[in-house]
Order: sequence, then C-alpha cells, then structure tokens
Amino acid sequence: MLALVKAEPGPGLRLETVPEPAIGINDVLIKVHRTGICGTDLHIESWDAWAAKTIKPPLVVGHEFVGEVVEVGSNVHDVHPGELVSGEGHVTCGRCRHCLAGQRHLCPNTVGLGVGRDGCFAEYVALPMTNIWHHWPGIDEDVAAIFDPFGNAVHTALAFPVLGEDVLVVGAGPIGLMATAVVRHAGARYVVVSEPNPYRRELATRMGADLVVDPRERSLADVQRELGMVEGFDVALEMSGVESALQSAIAAMAHGGRIAILGIPIRDFTLDVTTVVFNQLTLRGIYGREMYETWYKMTVMLQSGLDIRPAITHRFPFREFEAAFAAARSGDSGKVIMTWAS
Ligand code: NAD
Ligand code: ZN
Repeated sequence: MLALVKAEPGPGLRLETVPEPAIGINDVLIKVHRTGICGTDLHIESWDAWAAKTIKPPLVVGHEFVGEVVEVGSNVHDVHPGELVSGEGHVTCGRCRHCLAGQRHLCPNTVGLGVGRDGCFAEYVALPMTNIWHHWPGIDEDVAAIFDPFGNAVHTALAFPVLGEDVLVVGAGPIGLMATAVVRHAGARYVVVSEPNPYRRELATRMGADLVVDPRERSLADVQRELGMVEGFDVALEMSGVESALQSAIAAMAHGGRIAILGIPIRDFTLDVTTVVFNQLTLRGIYGREMYETWYKMTVMLQSGLDIRPAITHRFPFREFEAAFAAARSGDSGKVIMTWAS
C-alpha cells in the first residue's frame, strides 16, 4: 500500500510503498477514506526537537482519519466489514489503575497512532477494536475525519460548565475554532476569541464568536468594557500554547474563574500564581479525549445542530501531500483534509 512515511531522522516525508498492516485477533483493519493534518504531523515532518526525541523511524505518520472496515480479527464481534469508523488515536494499556477504573484518558502508558505506532496517512490502518468509533451512515466524511481534534475541542470546551457563562477562547487554530462553536452550542453567553491571525479571526466569527480580538492591538479589559462585563471571564480555553496569551487570560478572569489548558507550550514559561491564588482560579490541563464520553458528546452535538464544517478550509488528494502540509503550516487555514479513497 501507499503511505506517508518518516523514513529516517530529519526533515521531510516520503510517499512510499509499504506492507499493509498485519492485524491480531483483537484488531480491526480499515481502508482509509480521509485524514486530517494535525500540528503533531507538522512537528514530525519538520523534525523539530520534540520529534527528534519522540519519533523512531521508519514510521507511517497521521492519526486523524475516517475509513471503512475491511477486516476484523477473530475475537472482534461488534465491528463489521463495510462500517464507517474513526479511531481513537491513543492506544492505552488496559491494565493500569486508570484504565481499570474506566479512565483511559489518564493512562500513563498511552501509545499514539502515527507517533508511537504506524498511523493513518496510508491506504490502510490497523487499530485495536477498543479504539474504534462507529459513525452514523451519511455523516459528512470531512467532519468524521477530524473527530480526533474535534474531540480535543469538546473535551476542553466542556471541561467546565459554560451554560450562561462568559467564555474566552485563546487561539483560533483549528481546535480553538471548533471549541468556539461548541461553547456557543452549549449555551455560553459571550464568546470572545483572541487570535492574532486575521484569516482565523474571520473564521472564528463564522464559528459563532460574539467578538474577536487581535491581542497585539486590543486588551481583554477593553473588550470586557465593550460587552458590559463587570466581573471578568468565567471560563477560558487556552488553545495557543503561547506564554503571553495564558498570562493575559489569567489577568482577565473573574474571581473563581476556570481555565482549561490544551495548548502545548513550546518552552517553559512563568505564570502569575499570586493572581491564581488571590482570585481563586482553577487551571486544568487537558490531554486527548475522554474514552468515550467525548466521542459520544461529539456525535450527539452534531446530531443536534452543531456545525463545525466552516473550520474545514482545504482539501487535497494524498498525492499532493506537500501542498496540504504547506497549507496547514501557513496559518491561513483551518483544518486541512487529505483524501485517500471514498
Ligand atoms: P494552532 O497552532 O493551529 O493554533 C494556535 C493558534 O494560536 C494560532 O492560530 C496562533 O495564531 C494563535 N496565537 C498565537 N499567539 C497568540 C496569542 N498571543 N494570543 C492568542 N492566540 C495566539 O494549533 P491547533 O491545532 O489549533 O492546536 C491548539 C493547541 O493545542 C496547540 O498548542 C497544540 O499543540 C495543542 N494540542 C494539544 C493537544 C492535547 O491533547 N493537549 C492535542 C492537540 C493539540
Ligand atoms: Zn493504562
């Protein structure tokens, strides 16, 4: 089969012919239809310090996908050839305290699809049956392809109650854009999005933001005055990984405010802990998705009118992967989809 491979340490990816993945008795083989490009894939492609430390080539990359089941292991009874599925890209151990408690998102032994095992930028991908999520027939396959980052958005956006609350979304990358639509759908009062990139601010407005702000030009205090907010934000979703952005969010919170942090800092940074203490803020780190409560919530929110399609801005056939990666890297994009088959 054809696959996008990190063949050796160093920058770049190659489209190569590799063997189809072999499946064990508990595994599912999937013919990949569409895939999404994630920031993780960009790190692996460019071979930055994180990738050099983490990735052991040769590796088929990619973890966001939708596809059709073509074969199942002899122990698999509730997944069948022909079904449309995505996969949870965190393969957990099933044996640790958290896995046994049904809290698989807390597993310390997680292996990532397209990071620690061969991924989905390929004509076929294999996963354990416990990582399979069934889609309803007729779902938009572009949307189904990005359930993984959509799940990051949902897990973060619903980490704290948002009904009636004033919510700040920090960073309108693909995940911040989807989170904007989620908190709107979930009943937030004001949704303010802070984002320096004008293309993404425009997308944030389409995703339901009441107000978008360029943090280089306007303070959050000023935004709060315009909206008539007297207490500060009740909830913030940190989706940029940028030091000054989290610092500004901390300063803009109401007393008792809650900040869910998804953004991964590229270097350690300092925080105003004094304000966290005196203003009694809660800061919570978010990683991945809850298995499978987040997946359930994604499905039912889409079925009850949530629309994340405006966050998908580019589509490419897989042979044009270089153009697809360039679009994702440019910043003037939302989610970028690569099509493998249909
Ligand atoms: P992205 O890099 O596309 O988006 C980040 C956005 O933040 C960009 O649009 C950027 O312009 C904006 N930004 C930069 N400086 C800013 C500032 N000062 N204030 C506000 N916004 C600013 O990333 P993404 O794919 O949308 O992912 C969001 C973050 O979540 C990234 O840091 C990513 O590494 C992280 N992530 C975490 C997990 C997890 O499980 N914790 C999973 C996926 C992604
Ligand atoms: Zn575990």
